[in-house]
Amino acid sequence: MTRISLPDGRLFIGGEWQQGSGAEIASVYPADGSVNMVLRGASRSDGELAIRRAQAAQADPAWRGMKAHERARILHRIADGIESAAERIAHIQTRDTGKTLRETSALVASATGTFRYTAAALETLDDALTVPRGDYLTMSVYEPIGLVGAITPWNSPIASDAQKVAPALAAGNAVLLKPASWSPLVALELARIVEAAGLPKGLFSVLPGAGREIGNLLVEHPAIGKISFTGGTETGRMLARQAAEKLMPVSLELGGKSPSIVFADADIEQTIAGVLYGVFSSSGQSCIAGTRLFVQRSIYDEFVARLVSATKALKTGDPFDPETQVAPLVHADHRDAVAAMVEQARAEGAELLCGGAAPEALAQGAYYLPTILAGLPNTATICREEVFGPVLCVLPFEDEADVIAQSNDNAYGLACGIWTRDFPRAWRVARAITTGTVWINTYKQFSIATPFGGEKDAGLGREKGREGIRAYMAQKSVYVDLTGRPLPWARLADN
Ligand code: NAD
Repeated sequence: MTRISLPDGRLFIGGEWQQGSGAEIASVYPADGSVNMVLRGASRSDGELAIRRAQAAQADPAWRGMKAHERARILHRIADGIESAAERIAHIQTRDTGKTLRETSALVASATGTFRYTAAALETLDDALTVPRGDYLTMSVYEPIGLVGAITPWNSPIASDAQKVAPALAAGNAVLLKPASWSPLVALELARIVEAAGLPKGLFSVLPGAGREIGNLLVEHPAIGKISFTGGTETGRMLARQAAEKLMPVSLELGGKSPSIVFADADIEQTIAGVLYGVFSSSGQSCIAGTRLFVQRSIYDEFVARLVSATKALKTGDPFDPETQVAPLVHADHRDAVAAMVEQARAEGAELLCGGAAPEALAQGAYYLPTILAGLPNTATICREEVFGPVLCVLPFEDEADVIAQSNDNAYGLACGIWTRDFPRAWRVARAITTGTVWINTYKQFSIATPFGGEKDAGLGREKGREGIRAYMAQKSVYVDLTGRPLPWARLADN
């Protein structure tokens, strides 16, 4: 493994590097349990200081009035910075989260792409002249909201951070980023890059710390005008309630329990490869993981047997080994929570087809073998609740109507995979599933130009795409008189 230096543990508070004054946070390398670093997180007073600095920086006309092409130049420089530090960031992220280096390298590339796309898109966002109904000009213009709180989870830090920070800065806001406590290091590395790119001081802060303390502060503080949150549904729901008190807009990217639907006419090789990638990459710690697999009954036995044997052949191990497909989970506590859910499912009658345990040879790390469960109905707890680990439930279905009903019978609506050679059928099913994203004969593919978000308990609002920048802007209507005459109502001409 290449040795790289980690960030020095100071926080980026309104453009200044300083020690946090909150509780200690330990970043742990989950492959062996060693501690990467212990740092002091942000306290409430650190957060308040960051907010005051952000208010001053955001109010500065040099930033508020900066032309789109000039702001875009800063975003391009951030993209350049991420690109030139790609190897370093990917290493830090692998140490922070245990994800394979292959995956973290892809996430870094995605973050670069997000900043570049956002920079380009920013220059295409026009204000509009609207149709008047009198002798005036009417305009619809967009302005920054002001201060944006971005709260992210631990599973894909650099990519989810970029997905919020790039459009929020593009829109002319100041951004206060709170990463998850299990993965504080990547966001601090992003701060170093943002600073070097010449973003005016104070506009960006990185505040690792407890959700209840720093997260809450961002949500409740009157100066924060929007929260963009990615994380669990219960956290998101609580945060939305608090936001309602302030009538503050929130965007919520939450959990999932996504169906993958395999029709009898599907290309079996393509489907098995897609299903495996869709559920077991990132060790299943992915909001969009295809965790409910519906297989048409006529091919169920044969398909599931092949899937189980392909699953057993996946290589679990060292995240820095390029051959590794399944790396450890983010933390031993999380691995234990996943294992407990599998045990509960077995107690409820699930048949264990493979996995269901931590691999003995890797006992020092937070590993859990890719697991397939069968024999439970779609209403069972493990088929309803997000596990956020490498656990797949397989279920048979009879026909199109049956699988649409079963797929939709779930609180979440984030993603869906459909595997068939019959395109009209794929289209019908895609339109009938209540979900934010559908993949047909593929899975977990992403384009920054394509909006992303969830339905039902999977979230509120969309990120990405050109409209993703608008989500961080306030819309204002302007009417301009064209006559030069007083309005008739006052009857000034009569006097
Ligand atoms: P989490 O909800 O526990 O935490 C997410 C973030 O919220 C963290 O930074 C956490 O510190 C913060 N937080 C916790 N309590 C808070 C509070 N009271 N107020 C404000 N902030 C608070 O989620 P997690 O365990 O870090 O991440 C896993 C979850 O994220 C899964 O449910 C997964 O599906 C979801 N996720 C969704 C997407 C998506 O785009 N839909 C992407 C990735 C992950």
